[in-house]
Amino acid sequence: MNKNSSNIMALAPNTSNKRETVCIFGTGDFGRALGHKIIQAGYPLVFGSRSTQTSSLIPKDAEVLSHAEAAQKAAIIIIAIQRQHYNFLTPLAETLRGKVLVDVSNNLKINQYPESNAEYLAQLVPGAKVVKAFNTVSAWALQSGTLDASRQVFVCGDDMEAKQMVMDIVRALGLTPLDQGSLLAAQEIENYPLQLFPMWKFPILLSLGLTAFFFFYCLTRDVIYPYVYENKDFSFFIAISIPNRICPILALILLALVYLPGVLAAIIQLYRGTKYRRFPDWLDKWMLCRKQLGLVALAFASLHVLYTLVIPIRSFVRWRISSQTISQALNNETEPLNNTNAWLSDSYLALGILGFFLFVLLGITSLPSVSNNVNWREFRFVQSKLGYVTLVLCTAHTLVFGGSRFLSPSSYRWYLPNAYMLSLIVPCIVLVVKFVLIFPCLDKPLTRIRQGWERNPQYSE
Ligand code: NAP
Repeated sequence: MNKNSSNIMALAPNTSNKRETVCIFGTGDFGRALGHKIIQAGYPLVFGSRSTQTSSLIPKDAEVLSHAEAAQKAAIIIIAIQRQHYNFLTPLAETLRGKVLVDVSNNLKINQYPESNAEYLAQLVPGAKVVKAFNTVSAWALQSGTLDASRQVFVCGDDMEAKQMVMDIVRALGLTPLDQGSLLAAQEIENYPLQLFPMWKFPILLSLGLTAFFFFYCLTRDVIYPYVYENKDFSFFIAISIPNRICPILALILLALVYLPGVLAAIIQLYRGTKYRRFPDWLDKWMLCRKQLGLVALAFASLHVLYTLVIPIRSFVRWRISSQTISQALNNETEPLNNTNAWLSDSYLALGILGFFLFVLLGITSLPSVSNNVNWREFRFVQSKLGYVTLVLCTAHTLVFGGSRFLSPSSYRWYLPNAYMLSLIVPCIVLVVKFVLIFPCLDKPLTRIRQGWERNPQYSE
């Protein structure tokens, strides 16, 4: 569900002191938790239950009555009962006529029933005004007050007045109602709590796959090869050296994969001569998870920074420096400063620092709290222009790191190049294609296509 597209109602909460009685059917976990909040907000509350015996778990200011009696006391009835028990409402249809019924239910599976629970409720009690709400808030969050992640309450319904009444209660509880439109939206709202990071699946699976590939690649080159040919045991590389190779590689590849679908889309639009034909599904899906790809890339870049910070205190590094110093002392020679190497090393570090700084900036601007405060042009500027600058800096950081080693035969083991060389393939392709697309002979028609111009209008779908 696109939260941004929804209409956040900015109306002030109902400030009148007189609150209408609210009824909750069901004294289960959710009914009780919501009941506590409703009483705290100052609403008189009545429970409709199969058993009118009250218990210590039920808020003490609430009455517990039979369903029919409780329904008569309120205009709004929250049905805190599982869908499979809704048929007990059929005999109450006359009592519930004209009432606002709030469906809070969730299912165990996505699209479990042909129609949403709220639509099913509307069919069972045709005279009532059904509103879907509260299903994305958990009983635990209501009780413990930790509502940070779930302060938004999606609301939908066919009756505007009924929806407004429910949204007033939502606001009075300190939550944010998001109007999702008519009851047709209920299915999507019911599916929402069942989704498990849908946009993160591809980035995470991809990074797991790439991590596994590069781990075995580096293991073969940096641990197994020296063991086989030089009988040297570098197995401790697994702890820091290999992760510190994998992290920047993944950061760079994933960052490039954020921008690759954009250039592919541009090529497709140029080829088709229109923007009015749908992209292939895989490209659509890829474009939708670019933010997540970027954030995973940022996580790998941050790990690379941390691993790099500990390099000077590593035992192996200290041993290597001291043995070089001792060897120079024993041979009574001082290695002169190699100015080219000093330049390369400083440039590579400077490019890495600047690249990481912009990477963090990109990550910060993708946070909803920040992106909501910039206009579309500013967001595009940061994510696109600064994004490409970040990609250029990080690619240059890797290229300068490689330096002359790219051509040196000793950097190939079992014909395998250094892993960072492989990491340059995707970013270089993206940057070269992007560079070509900037040429006016391609940029002008692309801009016109994106403004709605079509080369062959009769062929567009
Ligand atoms: P629950 O603890 O199982 O309580 C459901 C209540 O329904 C029971 O306490 C009972 O109340 C009533 N009930 C049970 N069988 C019934 C029947 N045959 N006829 C009439 N009433 C019956 O469930 P819950 O966790 O409170 O969830 C209630 C609803 O809220 C569900 O639709 C759920 O999807 C939704 N929801 C729950 C949460 C959550 O965190 N738990 C979050 C969002 C939405 P009486 O004994 O008083 O009759």
